[in-house]
Amino acid sequence: MKNTDLIDRLLKNRNLTDEELTGVLLCDDLKFNEYLFEQARKVREEIYGRDVFIRGLIEFTNYCRNNCYYCGIRRENSNVLRYRLSEEEIIACSDMGYELGFRTFVLQGGEDPYFTDERIVSIVKKIKEHHPDTAVTLSIGERERESYQKFYDAGADRYLLRHETADKSHYEMLHPSDMSYEHRMKCLKDLQEIGFQTGCGMMTGSPGQTIDNLICDLRFIQRFKPEMVGMGPFIPHHDTKYADHEPGNVGMTLRLLSVVRLMLPEVLLPATTALGTVDPHGREKGLMAGANVVMPNLSPVSVRKKYQLYDNKICTGDEAAECIRCMSERIERTGYRIKTDRGDHVRYREGCENDGK
Ligand code: SAH
Repeated sequence: MKNTDLIDRLLKNRNLTDEELTGVLLCDDLKFNEYLFEQARKVREEIYGRDVFIRGLIEFTNYCRNNCYYCGIRRENSNVLRYRLSEEEIIACSDMGYELGFRTFVLQGGEDPYFTDERIVSIVKKIKEHHPDTAVTLSIGERERESYQKFYDAGADRYLLRHETADKSHYEMLHPSDMSYEHRMKCLKDLQEIGFQTGCGMMTGSPGQTIDNLICDLRFIQRFKPEMVGMGPFIPHHDTKYADHEPGNVGMTLRLLSVVRLMLPEVLLPATTALGTVDPHGREKGLMAGANVVMPNLSPVSVRKKYQLYDNKICTGDEAAECIRCMSERIERTGYRIKTDRGDHVRYREGCENDGK
């Protein structure tokens, strides 16, 4: 068994050497893992108590101009039945979500040119007009700084853009040459400078990923200091060239969640749908390893199965009300509880906007 002193030092210094981090990430000893998860939970509870924040995810388009090799809705997958929700449908989802208690809506989609800056601005403004006490998160990929500024000015609060991998050559293996590592990183920097609560993140076990790549991701996260970090296992999709690749490892994903929690105690950390897909109790395990956010699906059931980034995605058949009921039961069994408010990062809570930035 690995020495738990290592974890105590990570807790105290929020840092370890590359070699030590490698040791932590690769150690699947049960006792060691339990100790790591326990420390991550303690840190999370000191800051966010036992609250779990819920975000209503609206997957509003699966059209995409990009061709990320791992992703089921990439441009060249002609087997996808493409859909996009109308503005009215998106607003209706958020109205329904509001009734169910959601105070954050995450608009996620492929990079769909139909949704021009003007259309996104109009949607953001309408949601905020209908429900001024909600936060709007966008997760619509790479745009230019001017576009991001327009979204922010329209009232969008947060932006999720996973960096996918902080290693340029690994990035170039996962993406075609019309996408660039530099541009994705520039987008993240722009988003943060504009004032969004910004989220980066990566898949665990993505094709070609090495342990050194993950250390590089952790170093990037430490430098960038995001408000949110989205991490879930890679899961193969049958219509991609990685159809036969093995999925990411649950234990590794959980250890990464804990390590990120210990490095950035205040970070908002979702227990992702992908984690719940590779393990029936993956999301609960994520919460027990330091995660404090879950993102139930609010998209109309009629389109759920069409937003398939990977195979066997869970929760594609249930109405939103059913999802939230199932989710609250699962959360309560962990000893945590759903918190119905915007669930901002502590630095962005009312009265201390941008403090510390
Ligand atoms: N177009 C947006 C949203 C992408 S989908 C953007 O570019 O940011 C959200 C995330 O799903 C991606 O960032 C990626 O990390 C993850 N994802 C895509 N394909 C996946 C797969 N096969 N397995 C697990 N996660 C995947």
